[in-house]
Order: sequence, then C-alpha cells, then structure tokens
Amino acid sequence: MNTTKYIFVTGGVSSSLGKGIIGASLAKLLQARGYRVTIQKLDPYINVDPGTLNPYEHGECYVTDDGAETDLDLGHYERFLNVPTSQANNVTTGRIYQSVIEKERRGEFLGKTVQVVPHITNEIKNRVQLLGNTGNFDIVITEIGGTVGDIESLPYIEAVRQLKWELGDDNALVIHLTLIPFLKAAGELKTKPTQHSVKTLMESGIKADILVCRTEHHLSNDLKRKLALFCNVQQDAVIESIDASTIYDVPNLMLKEGLDIITLKKLNLSNHGSPDLEQWNNFLERHKNPKSEIKIGLIGKYVELQDSYKSILEAFIHAGAVNEVKVKVISIHSEHIDESNIKEKFEGLHGILVAPGFGERGIEGKIDAVKYARENNLPYFGICLGMQMAVIEFSRNVLGLKNANSTEMNPETSFPVIDLMDTQKNITDKGGTMRLGSWKCNLVKESIVGETYDHISIEERHRHRYEYNNEYRSHLEAAGLKTSGINPDTGLVEIIEIENHPWFVGVQYHPEYKSTVANPHPLFVSFVNAANEHLKKNLTTI
Ligand code: GLN
Repeated sequence: MNTTKYIFVTGGVSSSLGKGIIGASLAKLLQARGYRVTIQKLDPYINVDPGTLNPYEHGECYVTDDGAETDLDLGHYERFLNVPTSQANNVTTGRIYQSVIEKERRGEFLGKTVQVVPHITNEIKNRVQLLGNTGNFDIVITEIGGTVGDIESLPYIEAVRQLKWELGDDNALVIHLTLIPFLKAAGELKTKPTQHSVKTLMESGIKADILVCRTEHHLSNDLKRKLALFCNVQQDAVIESIDASTIYDVPNLMLKEGLDIITLKKLNLSNHGSPDLEQWNNFLERHKNPKSEIKIGLIGKYVELQDSYKSILEAFIHAGAVNEVKVKVISIHSEHIDESNIKEKFEGLHGILVAPGFGERGIEGKIDAVKYARENNLPYFGICLGMQMAVIEFSRNVLGLKNANSTEMNPETSFPVIDLMDTQKNITDKGGTMRLGSWKCNLVKESIVGETYDHISIEERHRHRYEYNNEYRSHLEAAGLKTSGINPDTGLVEIIEIENHPWFVGVQYHPEYKSTVANPHPLFVSFVNAANEHLKKNLTTI
C-alpha cells in the first residue's frame, strides 16, 4: 500500500511571501528527522515551462538533471534538501492543458466532452501523485503558485480539495501562507487580510490546517489565539514566520515555532526525536562568522532583478561559508561598461563573474570585462555566455581575429568562434530545444578544474544553443587558451582556462544549479578562494 503523505502549500493576501522557502524549510526539518521528502511546484500560468520567459518576468530559469526548464523555487528545494528534482517537480497550466489536449486528439476520452472538471483537475491530481507513486518519498510537498482567489488557481484549488477528500485528513494537509501586515499609523499588526484569505479558501471547500504568518513583528499569544479562533485552526497551528536576515535561518525559525511537530501530528507520523541539523548549523555558523570580505563583480544584463541570477548568488553564499569569507556581490550592468570606465568600475574587486545570457544586448561590455580580467590577473569566472565571451575576447585580442564573434550575435561574422552545431541548425521552435540538462565532461588532470573537482569525469547541467567552434581549437590552444574539459561523446569543448593567470576559467555549463548547502559547488569554492588570495596579495602590496 502506498502510504505517501501529501502537504499542500497555498498562499494568501500577497504574492512573494516565500512559499518556496517555507516549503523547503519544512521539507528540510522533515528530512532531518529521517523522512524522504520532495517538493513540487504547480504554476498556474499558461507557458508550458518558464524556459521561454524573460528573466525580468520570472527571474532565473532553473534547469534539472533531466533537462527540464523550471521555476527558480526548484533551486531552493535542491539547495535545502540536496536531492535532485526533475521535470515532475514543476508543472504549469500550459503543460497540463497540453497533455489533456494531446489525449483528446488521441481519442483517449472516448467521445466525452473534455472539461476543466474533471479532466483538467484529474490531470493535476495525477501530476501531484506521480511523485508519491514512485515509492521514493514518504512525504510530497506541493506548492501552489499564485494567491488564493486568483482565477487561474481555481482548478488547482479544486484538485487539492478533491485529493484531500480522497486521501483523508491523516494523509493530506493544507498549509496556508499568509501576511500579517503592520500598520505603522495604528502601531498594530492586522489579522483581517488573513481572515479574508482563509475565507476565500473555505469558499472553495478547503479548510486550512496550518497557518504560517509572515510578519515583521512577533505575534503575541493573544494575536495567535485570535487568528486561530477566526480562521478555525488550532492555536499551535498558527506559526509565526518573522522576517529573517537569511533564508537559511528559516528552517531553525520554523523548528522553534514547531511547524514540523504540528505537521507530523496532523499526518499521524511519528516524531523521531529531534531533527539532525548539525551540518546545516555548521554551515550557518561559518556563513555568519566570516574572517574576511571579498567583492565579486557580477557582470550581467539582467542585474536590475536579483532573482535573475538566484542560483549564482546562492552558490556564492555556500562557497563563502566553506572559505569563511563574506562574498559581497556587486552587480555591474554590462551595458554600462566600456574601455573608458572599466578601471573605475572594477576598482576594489577581487574577482569577476560574467553571467549567462542571451542575445546581443550588453555583450561588448562583457568582452571588455574579460579583457580587463585577463590582462590584470583578476580572477575570472565565465558561465555559459561568460565562457563564450572569453573565447571571443581571446580570439579578437590575442589571436588577432578582428571582429570574431558568436553567430548568435553576428551571423555574418568572418570568425565564428562560437557557432551552432548542425543538430541545432534546423530547429525553429524556441521552447525546450536548447542543449539542456546533464551532460558528461572529461577533465584534463593538470588544470584548475582537474585539481578542483574530486573526479576527472563529471556531469554538469547545460542550457544553451551555441558552442565553442572546434575549427578554431588548435589555434586557440597554441595561443594559450587551454581546453580543460571535453564532452566525451560529442567532442564539444566544455571548459577553457588561461595558463599563467591566477584563476581564469570559463565553463559552457551552469555549475550554479548544482551548488547546495550540503554540497557547495567546487568551482565556486575554488573561485572564492582565488578571489580571497587576490585580496590578501593586494593587502600585502599596499
Ligand atoms: N546565448 C548563449 C547560447 O545560447 C548562452 C546561453 C547561456 O548563457 N545560458 O549558447
């Protein structure tokens, strides 16, 4: 018999309350008590996946091992749990409708009228239970995107209502995340918006079992009692979620509030002593007590929105903790960099990271950034487009291939050092057609990466269309652009380095997706260490 328990997390009052972090924190606590937990995100928008969304719209697109382009919350799930997610962990309305319509075309509904209820809701229920049915998890946490009352969330809420009825209260529970605003003029925390959102949920037939209340001020016992009474939940099921200085504090805050205990009680699960958070707390200790501070320039074109580079920023936090260094990331817009101001903009930086990206905007600034780092021995980390920019810069300024470029930016360039592979040339659809997911790479032992990773054969996640053009490889290598990682199946160059430079690495893949609290990414750890060495060297030369 399948005994998987299901937890649904809904949101009320406002968006951006951090359902992903609450879900991930609860999952962490349950995992630390020995349960096998996974988290899933249901997104009510009509895009089939967020791969086609502009980062300004939706933040970073997170990529899983199996090549799914997903919501950035999956990044939090992996960073907290250290368990890989997959396509099954992120489902959108677009994907639900796509599969229902495909079934209709195949005649699978046997002449029935296809409707939101039951066909769309059944598809949602199947997607929720897919993870539980693998037998790999004791608990599946499903986060419903959006806010209750949204038109687009209705089929999801109805699916949750049906599942809860079918599975029974011991096997499914609903956590409602809400906001308790503080009205400065009145000097008071206000519960009314929460009462209304719980009521809205109730109108759809769902009674919240646990309330998690985001707040800037502590909730008094009286206020918790009032919330419990008017929202029809037990008093110990009213959980305060006070603003934290780092998201990594949230599991401990939830532990203090007893979110895991009330969850286990309601799901009739045994509470195996106290959770083992030793490794987690070790990380926090190091994160909060750095011995030095370094400044890393993050060169990108979506820097106005921090969520665009979420996984990179988090990977720096993990790597900083390993090195006991505070990593201050300074965002620098690539469109605002040129040769005349670069010295001033990069003043005081101990390393730069040129970020992933698409299209022509801002690339000349990225190329100038590469040149500066190469010529000034500044630690350089290029990720995806950042690796491609390093190849272009080297081709132009060291090999002397004037106007060398990627065919993404200039299809007519005479020196296409970054180009499309034949397999990509006839692709017209934009969605899900890049080189995606986990690919093998063999490292050269005598190289920065060879010394950094534990193994010579690695697997990393990709999300790009263009590649290093092997026709230029022998020239680039002869001039000093070392190839230190190769895909063993396709011969594609995945990593480049520059010798006689303190730390200059460009990777075609996205190492940031695999950095977790339990397993900080070795390349970020090594880069932060190099930047810290740069800081020390500068201190001694002053
Ligand atoms: N635009 C480049 C490509 O498609 C790089 C993509 C990226 O940085 N993720 O190859």
